Amino acid sequence: MHLFEAIIDANHRAVAGDASAGLHPAEFAESLPVIALTCVDPRLNAFFPNALALPGEQFIWLRNAGNIITGPMSSTMRSLALACAVKGGEEIAIIGHTDCQVAKTPTVVLLEKLNMLGVDRSRLPDNISEFFGTFGSERQNVIKACDFARSSPLIGPKIPVHGLMLDIGTGKLDWVVNGYDTLPANTHTPAPKTQFASIGEIGSFKNFEMGEMKFPDMKIGEAAVKTQTVQPPQVRIVAPTVAEAPKAPAPTLPPMRKKTPPPPTIQPRPKFPGKY
Ligand SMILES: [Zn+2]
Repeated sequence: MHLFEAIIDANHRAVAGDASAGLHPAEFAESLPVIALTCVDPRLNAFFPNALALPGEQFIWLRNAGNIITGPMSSTMRSLALACAVKGGEEIAIIGHTDCQVAKTPTVVLLEKLNMLGVDRSRLPDNISEFFGTFGSERQNVIKACDFARSSPLIGPKIPVHGLMLDIGTGKLDWVVNGYDTLPANTHTPAPKTQFASIGEIGSFKNFEMGEMKFPDMKIGEAAVKTQTVQPPQVRIVAPTVAEAPKAPAPTLPPMRKKTPPPPTIQPRPKFPGKY
């Protein structure tokens, strides 16, 4: 099983309510860290990297409005290339989301909003939609972005380029483009197929060493206590409740359209020796 196949499997189990759903990132060391391109929508802040069950140090996060790639040599593509070359990114995931406001803003409305901000139409390119890369379908936008990234001369052929869609109401991830399908033969060796460990086994990674994987039997309660001693204090990001929300004066801020639901509870196993 490849990394993102395991991620989506764990995500689906977590969304379905399986409290034991999780991922051992150490078993996919050759596929980490991953690079994710997502939208700038603040509602996504609560979902990543939790929705992927990856620790923060294995998650390189690029964002732009609409997770748009405008061409194989675009600025975003250059950042993706540098993230691979400089930061060692092993796989790329372009992750769109449902209810994307970029998709819901027609060009004429966008021009009106820009005009209200004092942007002079005469100084903008003629084809606004092409210039900004705006779109009407979140799914088609992800497919287009994957096509640009896959065909880009800036991305090596051994780097899988995936397209995913996040349901912003539930945190569920689904395939749009499976990047493993378009890899050249024999260029990407998947990690050995393994079974998912339960939350009760988190503690087994306490003494994890590269090349040495031991998973002693542990009781759930015992593991939970040990986990507290090794888990980074801010690994788990929980969506703030209304009561915890900042109380800054916001007369100019629009009201939240929808309360952000909590992300799935799948968790990475801590204490993983990263490549950084
Ligand atoms: Zn969006």
